[in-house]
Amino acid sequence: MNLHSEPEVAGSDTVVVIGSGPAGAAATLLLVKAGVKVLLLEAGTTAAAFGLTARLAGLTVVRLHRQMRTRSGDVKVTGDPATVLYEDIAPGGLTNHWSCAVPRFSHDDFLDGRRAGEAFTWPLQYEDLAPWYDWAEPLLCISGSNQGAPQLPAGKVSDVRALTGVWQRIGAAAQARGQAVVPVPYVYGIRTTLTFSGTVFNSFVRIIKPLLGSPNLAVRFGTRATHLEWSGREKRVVAVIARDAATGADHRFPCRAVVVAAGSVNSTKLLLQSASSDFPGGLGNTEGVLGRYLHDHPLGKLIVEMDRPLPFQPAAYVTRQSLADTQPLYAASCLQWSGVYTLARSILHGHPGRLRSTGFSLFGTMAPSPQNFVALDPATKSADGTPGLVLNISYPQESEAALTSARDRLVALLDGEKLKPRVALWVLDPVGSAIHYAGSCRMHASPKFGMLDAWSRLHAVRNVIVADSAAFTTGSEKNPVLTAMALAARGSQKLADDLRAGNI
Ligand SMILES: Cc1cc2nc3c(=O)[nH]c(=O)nc-3n(C[C@H](O)[C@H](O)[C@H](O)COP(=O)(O)OP(=O)(O)OC[C@H]3O[C@@H](n4cnc5c(N)ncnc54)[C@H](O)[C@@H]3O)c2cc1C
Repeated sequence: MNLHSEPEVAGSDTVVVIGSGPAGAAATLLLVKAGVKVLLLEAGTTAAAFGLTARLAGLTVVRLHRQMRTRSGDVKVTGDPATVLYEDIAPGGLTNHWSCAVPRFSHDDFLDGRRAGEAFTWPLQYEDLAPWYDWAEPLLCISGSNQGAPQLPAGKVSDVRALTGVWQRIGAAAQARGQAVVPVPYVYGIRTTLTFSGTVFNSFVRIIKPLLGSPNLAVRFGTRATHLEWSGREKRVVAVIARDAATGADHRFPCRAVVVAAGSVNSTKLLLQSASSDFPGGLGNTEGVLGRYLHDHPLGKLIVEMDRPLPFQPAAYVTRQSLADTQPLYAASCLQWSGVYTLARSILHGHPGRLRSTGFSLFGTMAPSPQNFVALDPATKSADGTPGLVLNISYPQESEAALTSARDRLVALLDGEKLKPRVALWVLDPVGSAIHYAGSCRMHASPKFGMLDAWSRLHAVRNVIVADSAAFTTGSEKNPVLTAMALAARGSQKLADDLRAGNI
């Protein structure tokens, strides 16, 4: 391979961050503010981050964004044949498209797996992550409740919202059944904003762009990391190899440490590609767990028709049931649909902010299993010349049962308010539709069950962090971005401390 060395942008004092999605952006911000020299490698180009979002008092009134695409060509699906893989190779990654819901994981979400055995036990608890939720939330300007519920702790919200009227009464009935109903915590809440990106919060636009003048930060766009170079002599990763999308040339960026945040599947692929004689199964893959335990959110879509209209501003979040009422690692939450089209529809029907027909997304869980995995497929090639991907994942039967039970409990709550609910639509989306893949490079106290320690660091390679949701030991029913950002920041702070102390 003909390598261009890049000592002028990276050196033995540089931390290379790979990817500018929310996890990579959180890590970059933390490191730059901690005085660490950072080189951010982003496979997408600035042209790819095109978009415009205008919001008026929290309602999106204009949204121009690129179409989101599924990845194909280099992906072989060997589990559920309907499996899809969405990605956006662009600054900000999937935050060019996301819906901006940011619930915290709860205390119980970190404890649930213990009930299923050692393999499902997180190496940290809610209390370890709480200060990092506190750190990340102000960046997101969240609107939501400032009242915590057992299954959904309150975050640091900028705009306090509360449910009123019928939803309050439904909340009281839910509480008696061990659930809670609160407003969905959303990014940028009720503010009026104009953003040059496909959503109100694109992690590149909101976090990285304001840092661009910093002497501690260099960014390379259109540069896709393809290999982390392990030195058997130094017992650490000494450089990142990346391909320039425009020229096809391979560049070598020397480094002191690496934060991998290319999205769950791509981060795992990168580590699998980074094989060496010390790690023939992929970087740090001493026990064959790299790529395994892949999980996603089983997703149900529900539309309910009622005799009386139901408010949707703020949108309601019906939490999961308590641990005592569920089998280990199976739960589901319900998020009510809202937004400008819903509002327009309600105005047309003559009762603004309320509708007789309302929709919900139900996010469920699946117990992670080593049988669900990401692997390399040497038979196909990705655009950057690296091997293609195998995606092997199917939802267990218990996932559907948890979703239908959450649906039935929600319908019963609406019925309790004499709304006479009728299910007009109920569909389960194909695997990958939630776009919340996680777990394929998971944290665990033991390398036998996970690649990363409690600080998101590879057990076997002490100068590499994996910062995105690949790190999740188990998947709770909550949307992943906030927790990925909190884990990324926590791991990056420890990395910065260790670099300063000379421990790496
Ligand atoms: C329509 C939609 C709605 C969603 N709604 C929500 C929601 O409400 N709440 C929520 O929490 N989540 C939501 N999500 C999911 C959320 O967007 C993702 O979980 C999140 O963006 C993942 O962050 P990430 O940093 O791990 O990866 P990504 O966002 O995928 O970012 C990865 C970055 O790495 C870059 N990259 C990839 N490979 C390489 C490489 N080899 N070298 C260099 N750079 C590389 C990519 O270009 C990209 O910038 C939604 C997603 C979609 C599509």
